[in-house]
Amino acid sequence: MRKTKPLYEGKAKILWETDSPGRMVQEFKDDATAFNGVKHEIISGKGVLNNRISSHFFTLLNEAGVTTHFVEKLSDSEMLVDRLEMLPIEVVVRNVAAGSMVKRLGIEAGRRFDPPIVEYYLKDDGLNDPILSEEHVTALGLATHELLAEIRTAAIKVNDILTDFLDERGIRLVDFKLEFGLKDGCLVLGDEISPDTCRFHDKTSDRIMDKDRFRQDLGGFIEAYNEVLDRVSS
Ligand code: UDP
Repeated sequence: MRKTKPLYEGKAKILWETDSPGRMVQEFKDDATAFNGVKHEIISGKGVLNNRISSHFFTLLNEAGVTTHFVEKLSDSEMLVDRLEMLPIEVVVRNVAAGSMVKRLGIEAGRRFDPPIVEYYLKDDGLNDPILSEEHVTALGLATHELLAEIRTAAIKVNDILTDFLDERGIRLVDFKLEFGLKDGCLVLGDEISPDTCRFHDKTSDRIMDKDRFRQDLGGFIEAYNEVLDRVSS
């Protein structure tokens, strides 16, 4: 299997076409961005850490019966994935109030949600990824009722699996973002699952172990990602 040409370059990853039909290489970059690309830095080592952490999570999910695009980790910064037709929706699951939700609704950070809240956002940087109701998703033709129900069920299942797994390793899963696609008409989880796309707090000290360290200029970024990797691989 050989990489042929870059098909899509995003803020943190490059997707490469390969000579293997239906397969792509997902390469993790060292670029860190926040606030829709307004804040941007290169953080050496981030791509390797996110590839390792994401590979662990995808392996865990595949074994638990969630269909993901992950095939195998190829190198330090690359994984082999199935080619998907991506849905232009970001699915966010929230167990604890944080980030944009706290600002939007004026609620206190740290409030727990049981059951968790599932939200949908339109993946459109030009519009700043606006939040969508389920009616928006179906009325705009982004997904049918049936597909949306499947997405919601899958997102909750991912949350259940990751919450338990991380809890055993002393990490509270505050919230996270998923992106799904279709392969031969079937729903498949794509993208990445890493401290760039999740909020992880240490269960005992509440220490932030995710991209909020970059967003909020807290320092200790690579150390936190390294610690997530250590705990996830233990
Ligand atoms: N998230 C993401 N990409 C985005 C927006 C959000 O990975 O474009 C993740 C983010 O890291 C957090 C969760 O989704 O784990 C919820 O993010 P939120 O809506 O609070 O937005 P933020 O505070 O990151 O702007």
